[in-house]
Amino acid sequence: MKSPTQDQLRTRTAADIASVQLAAENWTPQRTLAWAFESFGDRVAISSAFGVEGMVLIDMASRISKDFRLFTIDTEFLFPETYSLMDRIEEKYGITIEKVYSLLSPEEQERTHGTALWSRDPDACCNLRKVEPLRRKLGELSAWITSIRRDQTSVRSTAQRIEWDAKFGLVKVNPIVDWSAKQVWRYIHDHDVPYNELHNRDYPSIGCTHCTRAVRPGEDPRAGRWSGFAKTECGLHIIEPVPQATEAYASKAAKIGN
Ligand code: SF4
Repeated sequence: MKSPTQDQLRTRTAADIASVQLAAENWTPQRTLAWAFESFGDRVAISSAFGVEGMVLIDMASRISKDFRLFTIDTEFLFPETYSLMDRIEEKYGITIEKVYSLLSPEEQERTHGTALWSRDPDACCNLRKVEPLRRKLGELSAWITSIRRDQTSVRSTAQRIEWDAKFGLVKVNPIVDWSAKQVWRYIHDHDVPYNELHNRDYPSIGCTHCTRAVRPGEDPRAGRWSGFAKTECGLHIIEPVPQATEAYASKAAKIGN
């Protein structure tokens, strides 16, 4: 018998998801997480940059499964406070965070793309340091769990609790998609969940050091991300082309069979 093609598998999975999608809209985040763990086992992982929303999911997951998978895209441009939080998470929850890196070190990126690419072309920089590593990581998985909320950006406003991610070709699970920022903070305080101390210094949304600043009173919570650019997303949740392969980049990709 002929094995199903990737396209057939993808269609079947997308169809399966369509059958639970409507019911899932009424599920709690905990039930959604339990469904994801039961459905995909070690082929599902939480993706987090350790904002407060991600911390809620990590804490909830730890109460459902002791060996859930958690990964992060480490751009190598993160704040010391973020690295310190990663250490605290590993200690408190007894897990090892799977760290995924760009194929280019910061020095290699500077040699091949010039200095401070983030200040000239942040989309290209995010593609190299976030989108390509994420695509590589998602290639090992059947589903990923994110902490996006609908009211964060216009791109996220139509997200569903469980959906087919056509960009990366796997199931995307968004357990707290309908939560407000107030609900997130209530959970953090009620359950004594650790969080990035930068949040106490007017950084409601935290990414790379080069592209994050504190927000001023009255500004949108994401105004501190890519300040001065129209950009509001790093590209993980929107459709963007794969980065152009430079010679150094292509040679490293070939080595890992990408
Ligand atoms: S957030 Fe800024 S520094 Fe980080 S990958 Fe994107 S453009 Fe580069």
